[in-house]
Formats: sequence, structure tokens, C-alpha cells
Amino acid sequence: MSSPTDTAAGPAAAPKPTRIAPIVTPDAKSFWAAADEEKFVGQKCGDCGKFTFPPRPMCPHCHSLKREEVELSGYGTVHSWTIPRHPHPFGFKEAPVVAVIQLDEGIRMVSNVIGVAPEDVKMDMAVEVTFDATMNNHKVPVFRPRAK
Ligand SMILES: [Zn+2]
Repeated sequence: MSSPTDTAAGPAAAPKPTRIAPIVTPDAKSFWAAADEEKFVGQKCGDCGKFTFPPRPMCPHCHSLKREEVELSGYGTVHSWTIPRHPHPFGFKEAPVVAVIQLDEGIRMVSNVIGVAPEDVKMDMAVEVTFDATMNNHKVPVFRPRAK
């Protein structure tokens, strides 16, 4: 049987949102569960106190297995960014700003910067976390210019 929807012609009746849901690994399960509730959490070592991203079983600094999940400030700066135009990213009407965010806690993560024109994104620009909806009723942390 053939499907009545033709993806080659474009998103004729595409439901919102179109962003692909995160791929949840066992180590990052609590990170994504928190994101679904618009909470931004990180992993902190129970022995040396350093933060780690992405979540993992063992502290890369002191090899401790004691992991603590703590709420992060959600503040950071743009360390680097790019706009992936080719191939066109699936799930986005316009190519997003893909950025490495330097979080105030000292860890970096790859995310998107929203709410600003791509040409206005600057190195070390202050950003704060917000959440964007995905398919299948999930949410992912993204960043916007800091309000204050
Ligand atoms: Zn440690």
C-alpha cells in the first residue's frame, strides 16, 4: 500500500512541532526526562564536584562512580556556532543556528540558539536556556539571548 502523504512535495499537512525527538540513551535518560518538564539538569561528581556533560557512568576527572544530578543555572555563552544549510536539516523550516554553549558550570553542550537573527549571533554572547517542543511530546533545551 502507498501512503497518501508525499514527502517530496513538502510538508503539506505537517503537524507541529517538526523537530525530531531526542535519542535517549540509558545514561542520559534523567536529563531528557527533566527536559520534558522544562528542567535543565546536569551531572556533578559526588567526589570531586566537577560537572560532566553528557551524563556518563564514571567521572572523567577522578573516575568516581558517585553521580549527583543537580539543576543547572541555564546561563552560558556562545562558544562557537554554525548554520548547517547543506543538506537541509530535517525537521526545520529554516536552518537553525547550531551552537556550542559554554555553560556557567564549566561544561559545554551543543544546542540551538533561537530568538535572534543568525547574523546577530556573536561569540561570547550571553544566553539562557529555554525549551523547544519536539515530535512525540518531548522537549529539548535550546538557548536564547539573555534577557538581562
Ligand atoms: Zn570526580
